Amino acid sequence: LLQLYGPLNFLGSVYSGIRTALVDLEHMLSLTEEVVEVADPASPLPIATRLADSAPAQVAFRDVHFGYRPEREILHGVSFDVQPGHKVAIVGSTGAGKSTISRLLFRFYDTWSGAVLVDGHDVRSYRQADLRAAIGVVPQDTVLFNDSIGYNIAYGRLGATPEQVEEAARLAQIHDFIMTLPEGYETQVGERGLKLSGGEKQRVAIARTILKDPRVLVLDEATSALDTHTEKEIQAALKTVSAHRTTLVIAHRLSTIVDADEILVMGQGLVVERGTHAQLLAAQGQYAAMWAAQATGEG
Ligand code: ADP
Repeated sequence: LLQLYGPLNFLGSVYSGIRTALVDLEHMLSLTEEVVEVADPASPLPIATRLADSAPAQVAFRDVHFGYRPEREILHGVSFDVQPGHKVAIVGSTGAGKSTISRLLFRFYDTWSGAVLVDGHDVRSYRQADLRAAIGVVPQDTVLFNDSIGYNIAYGRLGATPEQVEEAARLAQIHDFIMTLPEGYETQVGERGLKLSGGEKQRVAIARTILKDPRVLVLDEATSALDTHTEKEIQAALKTVSAHRTTLVIAHRLSTIVDADEILVMGQGLVVERGTHAQLLAAQGQYAAMWAAQATGEG
């Protein structure tokens, strides 16, 4: 009996091994079902990710049609170019399709027709992970990890030295604030730690992005107004991170995009007006009306 026990025990562990493998496979399939939307190409093109290692990227949308559900097209043929190092701003009312454009740039979805190009190649020719490494986003609302504020910044480039983290924090105008905290960079933040204000969280996101040093930057401006002082600091920090970097801004306050190389006014899935701030004011159309409304404090 003892002689049999060994092999049986062995079979038992093989069986449980197989079961674990099946469960893993099942788990994997259920995960892939959710992300099956987009797939990596068989022979992906290489793409430089950090600005420090390469030139700024070029971004283009070519007659992009897209919808989240087959029965409802959201973008009805959107085209624009962001030249290397330039800044293009997208404005327009809620639901116009501004965020959809940034999601397509990240390739969270594939277009129905037309193409999204980075460096002249369709985003479908890159590995998704590489594409997303090349694009940095400063979102409207930054999610913080339950960890130190230092870690939350270093997350932009895991492996960054404390000196690099501090330099990024200085550029993002958050270093002085961090120095006032009880444990400096080691201070715990997030749900279970110190709660940061919207403006502080945004500066953490900017510091993160400075460390990541992506070749393309997407700024999703917060809709809620910050106090004037905070707003000034954030704008200064954003200037630092967007300087010489190909930038797409989803803007809510027109005052922040006066210097954009091109402004796209979106209306119901189409670019309805485009030009520089001066050109759009001269055109006396929708943008000029929005500008007048914000100037009088309605916006
Ligand atoms: P904006 O950023 O200009 O406010 P969005 O790009 O977020 O506009 O949305 C454009 C349109 O797409 C809206 O009508 C919105 O309801 C719809 N939409 C956005 N996200 C989804 C989604 N995940 N599924 C279905 N429809 C969506």
